Amino acid sequence: MDDDQFDTTVPPSGDGCVECLATPDGWWFHLRRCAKCGHVGCCDSSPSQHGSKHALATGHRVAQSFEPGEDWFWDYFADDYVDGYELPPPHWHPLSQPTPGPAGRVPRDWQDKLH
Ligand SMILES: [Zn+2]
Ligand SMILES: [Zn+2]
Repeated sequence: MDDDQFDTTVPPSGDGCVECLATPDGWWFHLRRCAKCGHVGCCDSSPSQHGSKHALATGHRVAQSFEPGEDWFWDYFADDYVDGYELPPPHWHPLSQPTPGPAGRVPRDWQDKLH
């Protein structure tokens, strides 16, 4: 793994998927944090898969789980787990935020809408 896929000075962009939050009906299942720029996107099980789209659009291939208690890194290009570096906190979204999220936007039949 190339070390320049990591920036250990950049905090996460926010509490939820950047693109989903910017869309009126956007919602996610799990969250991923870009190891390079801090972009928080949604996982590949989510309807919009903004995490992997971010990787493809930017070349930022490594993301860390942004889920409570998880610290693994994923390389979207290698399609595999990789070792990473300690990134600035917070290490996951607020515990007050539901999974899936965000609160109030998740459709009742969300399980049928996962990838
Ligand atoms: Zn999203
Ligand atoms: Zn990025």
